[in-house]
Amino acid sequence: MGGLKNPYLKKVVVMASEPRLNPLYRKAVFLSSAERLAHAPPDEGWEVAFAGRSNAGKSSAINSVTGIGSLARTSKTPGRTQLINFFTLDEARRLVDLPGYGYAKAPEAVKRRWRKSMEEYLAGRQSLRGLVQVMDVRHPLTDFDVMMLEWCAHERLPVHLLLTKADKVKRGPASATLHQVRREVEGLGDLVSVQLFSALKKSGVGKLQAVLDRRFEVEVDASSHTD
Ligand code: GDP
Repeated sequence: MGGLKNPYLKKVVVMASEPRLNPLYRKAVFLSSAERLAHAPPDEGWEVAFAGRSNAGKSSAINSVTGIGSLARTSKTPGRTQLINFFTLDEARRLVDLPGYGYAKAPEAVKRRWRKSMEEYLAGRQSLRGLVQVMDVRHPLTDFDVMMLEWCAHERLPVHLLLTKADKVKRGPASATLHQVRREVEGLGDLVSVQLFSALKKSGVGKLQAVLDRRFEVEVDASSHTD
């Protein structure tokens, strides 16, 4: 009978599919915005930066990994979208939201400024431990993504490719894209990793946190990150 439902069964299933998350990321608070590296907070401790083409799902990914919906709103505040936004996790660790790119219609001067600011940040920031490159699973490895990958490879900076909006495609094509992207970047060796993610379904959050934990050298007990 279609109407017969066991409320306890649903609860158990939901709980079983929820990853055990690292509370460190919930502590994220907005610190400051910078147009240039010169305006960034002191270059101490560790940073992991999120990059991605506009609309790829970067803000949603940051919200999901921290569990704080209002965080990425900070970066979307008019006037801050083209800035580098810093969030502290603790006294030594920061998440960084890099300005979105890929505005096809953006004036040349704006694009030039963006490139300069990114190159400067990626090459000059000592505390930068890695990049999370957010890509829509339906449009992976755009020219911009490849450019970021090349800059990072040049700096020997680890990059984690986040194939987000995975809920928008069926499991088979999502997995095919994952393997295809892995093949395309395998020449970069251990510096590049790839995963599927969905901010909508909250899938892959634990996996992403595990990558951040490694970059930040955070010790977690082995039973964490179960998704
Ligand atoms: P940003 O410009 O890269 O920061 O992108 P946003 O995080 O603002 O996301 C752009 C659009 O994609 C918004 O309408 C989001 O609601 C949507 N979006 C982001 N992540 C997901 C996801 O995992 N699944 C689905 N279905 N939509 C998403």
